[in-house]
Amino acid sequence: MDTVIEIREVPKWVSDRITSKGGLNPYGEPNFRVVWGGSRTYQVGGMFKHVVYVTDPSGNKRGVVTEIAEVRTLLKYNPHRWHMERWRGPEYYGTREEWYRNTWDEVAQLHTMGDYPSRGDYEHVFYLAQCPHMKPEDTEWCMPCQVGFGEYIPLEPNVFLLERQIYALLKSEDVSNLAEMGALFMRENIKRQIRNKIVGERVRNAMRPKLAVQPTSWQGGTNSRCSVPEAKCNDYIPLPANRRGFAQSDHAMPNHKEKEN
Ligand SMILES: [Zn+2]
Repeated sequence: MDTVIEIREVPKWVSDRITSKGGLNPYGEPNFRVVWGGSRTYQVGGMFKHVVYVTDPSGNKRGVVTEIAEVRTLLKYNPHRWHMERWRGPEYYGTREEWYRNTWDEVAQLHTMGDYPSRGDYEHVFYLAQCPHMKPEDTEWCMPCQVGFGEYIPLEPNVFLLERQIYALLKSEDVSNLAEMGALFMRENIKRQIRNKIVGERVRNAMRPKLAVQPTSWQGGTNSRCSVPEAKCNDYIPLPANRRGFAQSDHAMPNHKEKEN
């Protein structure tokens, strides 16, 4: 049974507002963008269930479920919510070599995530929804809402929530940039004064981009659910913490890994 997925466009004033808050990346594209879940697809390769019809010895046609290796276009998020994404530079995804090594699927004999994102890509940071069952003393959504992406809320009256989220994310970045500059100063200082090789090495290691915060869906050994890194510095926004949690939509993900076990 096919479900009809509604397609919606983001009003221009909304994307303009979001771009003005989040700025542009080095390619002149917005750092933050709003997408309708039903319009956001991506390519994923792997083993998929496939039904073939065979005629058995007694002449009856019947369906047999097999698995085939292919690349499919799937919905990336919950299709009935508004989502916000953030651009990440290519360094976020590691090196080209790491990407292809980590995304190789032995069984399907293909790269599950397609080409290396040499111009970066957009990652999920937030979605618009509410839990209408919260009492004033509650700090978290009720369980059914946590599991079910809460209740839909429209985009235009809630753009301010997206703006707040952008503000919090950029602010948390300032904090980590300061820490990094501190580390850089320390490194130079130590080099100049005592030329201590070991300490210099430690500081350099601390400054390397952290590869461990990538979405896990393409990393070997994980199952097909994709967990997206959550926004840091959530404390800046007076919203329930679970509001920003996000798990990939179940609607269209392949479950070939489960099948393997
Ligand atoms: Zn609720």
